[in-house]
Order: sequence, then structure tokens, then C-alpha cells
Amino acid sequence: MTKEIKEPGWNFDNSYARLPKVFFTAQNPHPVRSPELIILNDPLAASLGLNVEALRSEEGAAVFAGNRIPEGAEPLAQAYAGHQFGHFTMLGDGRAVLLGEQITPSGERFDIQLKGPGRTPYSRGGDGRAALGPMLREYIISEGMHGLGIPTTRSLAVVTTGESVIRETVLPGAILTRVAASHLRVGTFQYAANWGTIEDLRTLADYALKRHFPDVEGDENRYLSLLKEVIKRQAALIAKWQLVGFIHGVMNTDNMTISGETIDYGPCAFMDTYDPATVFSSIDTQGRYAYGNQPIIGGWNLARFAEALLPLLHEDQDKAIEIAEDAISDFTTLFQSNYLAGMRAKLGIFNEETQDVSLIKDLHDMMQKYRADYTNTFRALTFDKPEDTVLFGTPEFTKWNEEWQARLSRQEQSKDSSSELMRNSNPAVIPRNHRVEEALEAAVEQGDYSVMERLLSVLSNPYAHSPEQEEYTALPEPSSCPYRTYCGT
Ligand code: AMP
Ligand code: MG
Repeated sequence: MTKEIKEPGWNFDNSYARLPKVFFTAQNPHPVRSPELIILNDPLAASLGLNVEALRSEEGAAVFAGNRIPEGAEPLAQAYAGHQFGHFTMLGDGRAVLLGEQITPSGERFDIQLKGPGRTPYSRGGDGRAALGPMLREYIISEGMHGLGIPTTRSLAVVTTGESVIRETVLPGAILTRVAASHLRVGTFQYAANWGTIEDLRTLADYALKRHFPDVEGDENRYLSLLKEVIKRQAALIAKWQLVGFIHGVMNTDNMTISGETIDYGPCAFMDTYDPATVFSSIDTQGRYAYGNQPIIGGWNLARFAEALLPLLHEDQDKAIEIAEDAISDFTTLFQSNYLAGMRAKLGIFNEETQDVSLIKDLHDMMQKYRADYTNTFRALTFDKPEDTVLFGTPEFTKWNEEWQARLSRQEQSKDSSSELMRNSNPAVIPRNHRVEEALEAAVEQGDYSVMERLLSVLSNPYAHSPEQEEYTALPEPSSCPYRTYCGT
């Protein structure tokens, strides 16, 4: 009897490849020596209409390694520019190749991209490759973000290549398959504005509208609508980051999507102790991308987006600038209202009172003063179990708690609904740095993936507050040197 061979289910339709040639270069991934599938995201594969069994076969895994081009794929490297730490440069996919766009059974469109497939015309001095540790780190944190309900690119698979990559040391090579609503970035528009014609820019804007904002495509000034929609999505996204203590670490304009998804998990990390000045990235010496600066940088990046769109906003440049500035000025208000709504939920508050702002600020001031853990403070408030920490032992907290309780009793919702709102708004677990490091060490050093799999499992529903999650709420041992992250290059 012949064994039935399942089709993997690739179903590509490559709209980006139909854009003007200035936006990309056709580029196949460079084959690797001996691909081995390390991890496959079964639920994500299924939601994309892919067959897990077929993907796990040798031929299936060869696709994730770039050794086999699936039918219908049209591999390419995208061109883009970007402000990196404030400095504008031409970039492009230097270590990524877009295989194509997968159309899911429900008709949704997702980019399927290999990260680490070898050199492209945009690689500059780089090797186009990636190391196993950083790719697994992206897998863990992006899936953790998804579990937290934060818009993000996803991770479908990681394969090892059987080849080494040379960084400060020799590391095992790997390729991550990234899934995204698209890889359009602020930097893609900056590229079009600087290296393309006005028609290229218009084509790109129309493409972004069709792909992400079809509802406003027919608006009178659709390019202004595009700007406003991206501002809305980014204000919502960055508010969500702030509400879980996520620090992106490298908010360059090439790492800011038009879709409103978090992208590019390089030196990112979650804050333990609450401090707005927290920075993990080793290269961010000025604190440009510190936790407390993220909303400001978001606004700055969106101003660069508006700048790129100027020629489309109005034919008179002065008028165009006026329109752009007006739209950009909404960002702060939009961010604040998203953030406040989220904070109210974290404190079990349903309605709005003006004094909420000071109630929230007072709590943050105390957390900062007494070096309280961000996630665990809200978790303790949720379960009405102020643990034995410095913060909860202070008279300031007692007074604040009384004000908070009085605030809760002024709303019509019951204490129970308030608690439920808090449970759904305050995660039990976040991808804590020491847990992520522990999982990566077991995987990379010992080839033991069980630690990572357990971590991924508790991170998949951080609002479950299950007994298995309890041990993951523990803080790291106090350390004399602060946690540092590095760009995964
Ligand atoms: P990132 O820090 O990942 O956002 O990357 C910034 C830019 O550097 C992008 O254009 C990347 O494609 C490029 N890049 C990063 N690492 C490499 C590498 N190993 N080889 C070639 N290009 C790279
Ligand atoms: Mg990037």
C-alpha cells in the first residue's frame, strides 16, 4: 500500500512582487548544508491552512531552510530605508527573503519570510545569516507577545542549518520563518520618497491602503486617511507595550510597521523593576529607546512617515505640512487615551473619572520609589494579596489603597467584575529575561528544547493565572550587573 503523502498547503499570491521593481530584488535563499527542523508552530501553521505533518517531513523542512522553493513562491528581498538611532540610511532585507504571501482558508493574506537565508543585494558587509539563539529568542518573545494579545509578527518555524555563523564567537546557524500581516514599514515609505518617483510613492501608498485599510481607500484624501490610520494603530500598539512593560529596544523607522504589528525582536526585553529609564540594549547608550521614551519615539517615527507622504497629502507643500502636522498632533492624545483605558482596566476601573490620572501616577511614583516589580505589583493587586514587598509595607501604599478602594466603590460594577477585569488585564507571566535565557541556554548549549517548550506553553495564555504559571512569576536573583541585550546580527 502506498503511503498517502499530504500536501503542505502552500497557497501563494504575491502582490508585493507585482509592485514596481524599485521596491525589491528577486533573490532566492542560499541553500544550507543540513537543515533540521527545531520547532514548528502547529496552531499557527493550521491557521495558515498548512499541513503540519507535511511540514515536518524532510521536504517540508527544506522549505524553512531555503533549500526548496515551494510552488507559487517568488522569493525576493525588499528595499527600504530607515532612521537608525536618528540617522537616515538605505537598508533593505540584508538577511531576509520574502517567499511570498500565503492566502489562508479564510482569505487572509500573510507574508512568509525567511530570516537568515544568506546574502542579498542589501546585505552590505553582513553575511545574511542568523544564529540559533537570537532566532529562538524571537520565536519565544513574539509568541509571548501574541499570547499577551499584542499585535505582532509571528514565528512559524526555526531550523538549524548545520552551518556556523561567526560573530564574536562561532555560533550554530539557524533560520526563522516569520509570518506578518505585511513587512511594509515606515522605512519603505522613506525609501520610496527618497529613491523612487512620486508615482512609485503613490503606488506604494495605494498598495498599503488596499492591503491594510480598505475601509478608507475611497476617502477624499485617502493618503491623509492612510497617515491617520497608521497613527491610530501605532498609538494603540505602543500603549499595549507600555501596559506590559515591553521595551522594543530598537525603534528605528525601519522597524515600525504600517500594519501596527510589533516587528523585529532584536534587543527587546521586558522590564522587571518599574523604572521609566530602563534600557536593556547594549548599543542604546543614550537611552533613546528607554521604556519611558517609547511613546515619544513613536511620535517621532510617525512624523518621518508623514514627511515621506507629504507630496501625496497636498500639491502645495505648505498646505501638505499643515495637514501632516495636524494629523501627527493627534498621536499623543490617541496614545494617552489607549494607555489610560488600559491602565484603568489593570486597576479594575470601568468608567472614567478625572482623578484616575493622579491615582495611576501615584501608583507609578511609588513603584519607582520602592523599586517594585511592574508585573507582580499589578498581579498582587489583582488577587488582593499585597505580597511582602517594600512597597506594600509603606504608609503611602496604605493611603493609596484606600483611595483606590474608594474609587472602585464609586462605580456601579461589582467587586467581582472588577477582579475579573483585572485578571484579564494583568498577566501572570511575561517572558522574563532570566527565564528566556534559561530556555535558550538549554536549547543552544544542550540541545534540550523542553525548557523552551514549557515556557512557550505558560506564555501562550498569560491571563490563565494557572498553578503551572506560579513558578514563572518568581523574580530573578538580585544581580550586580544589569541585564543586557544585543542586536541579533
Ligand atoms: P535589524 O537590526 O535586524 O533591524 O537590521 C538592520 C539592517 O541590517 C537590516 O537592513 C538588516 O537586513 C541588516 N542586517 C542585520 N543583520 C545582518 C546580517 N547578518 N547580514 C546582512 N544584513 C544584516
Ligand atoms: Mg529591522
